[in-house]
Amino acid sequence: MKKEIIRKFAALAACFAVCAGTSCGKVERPDDKENVTVSGNDSATADASATTADGSSENQSELLTIPITTDENTSQAATSAGTEELPVSGQPAEDTSSYTASGGDSPQTTSGAAVPSQTVTGTGSSQTASGTASGSQVTDISLTFYEVTLPVGASKMPMVTMSPSTAENKDEIWTSSDEKIATVDSLGNIKAVGEGICIITVKSADNPAVSASVQVTVEAAKEPAVADGVTYIEGILIANKTYALPASYNPGGLTNECYSAFMNLVSGAAADNINIYCSSGFRSYESQQYIYNNYVAMDGQAKADTYSARPGHSEHQTGLAIDCNIIDDSFTGTPEAIWLENNCHKYGFIIRYPRNKDHITGYKYEPWHIRYLGVEKATAVYNSGLCLEEYLGITSQYTY
Ligand SMILES: [Zn+2]
Repeated sequence: MKKEIIRKFAALAACFAVCAGTSCGKVERPDDKENVTVSGNDSATADASATTADGSSENQSELLTIPITTDENTSQAATSAGTEELPVSGQPAEDTSSYTASGGDSPQTTSGAAVPSQTVTGTGSSQTASGTASGSQVTDISLTFYEVTLPVGASKMPMVTMSPSTAENKDEIWTSSDEKIATVDSLGNIKAVGEGICIITVKSADNPAVSASVQVTVEAAKEPAVADGVTYIEGILIANKTYALPASYNPGGLTNECYSAFMNLVSGAAADNINIYCSSGFRSYESQQYIYNNYVAMDGQAKADTYSARPGHSEHQTGLAIDCNIIDDSFTGTPEAIWLENNCHKYGFIIRYPRNKDHITGYKYEPWHIRYLGVEKATAVYNSGLCLEEYLGITSQYTY
């Protein structure tokens, strides 16, 4: 039974790995502890099933009580439907820390829709073969972007659309005009190697006369600035798997700026008939250490690392991260999640762990976890279509 409780705790606390917030108010009072009841069956909070780190699934039919801290004076005020219930996380955060560099700093919009090759400007190009096309042969290639600027070490991959859709062989052949500047793999993943400009080209294996290309500008990597053990890049405080916060870093709760920005966000959402509330905010180094050590004792460090942030590496320690509403996969696709994705930048926040970026951020898609950057930077990141690691050209992987 004890083991069962622990396992449920593990599934629940998977969200703590990244979404390690405990206080939604501005200040966490260490003595102000209370028990929070979590029920996997509660339809208002979480889906009943949770995937554990070993991939098994189990029903969370029992109530689970865990201690968390909260600031009653502010956590309720911070929400229009304040919650004392902490939802069960449906799935542990994934650790894909083997990934190396990522992303770029150029505000390139990479919408899912293919860009018609005719609209391409600059040196990027798409060529259509003439006289050789048939119903089963590729006649055109379009990409989601034709120009990109990346810092050294970063990478980015355009999405490819080959036409017509009925073409039988859509294999791609990728080449770089200068591999000292940027390389490209067989999937089209472009990696910035050295400063300069080069052209990455994709050809149709079926019809090599058809091609499209991306002009890649590689800039010097941005240099992190470290002050009192805290890393800043372009003025943005970084806490991820590469960059840890010192144990002494403790803003005591959400920062005033983050807190008031979140209040504005809640009001803006309410004006759109969307109810956003804070489920988790600040979490201290010691709290994360407690959680993480429990995981290590239970599953061993290697396994714990696949779903739990090590102490110092949780973004919730910054006082700049908030988990909104339901902290599990059932939040995905809800009107509230969609509103956050489309609007949170207007209030200075980004979706910190976007979909399809888990190999870069080190964490699975978390539509509930927002990070305060300020309106200007959040809007720039939003418009770039990049995750924060890509935007800054940094990694997120443990180095010890
Ligand atoms: Zn979070």
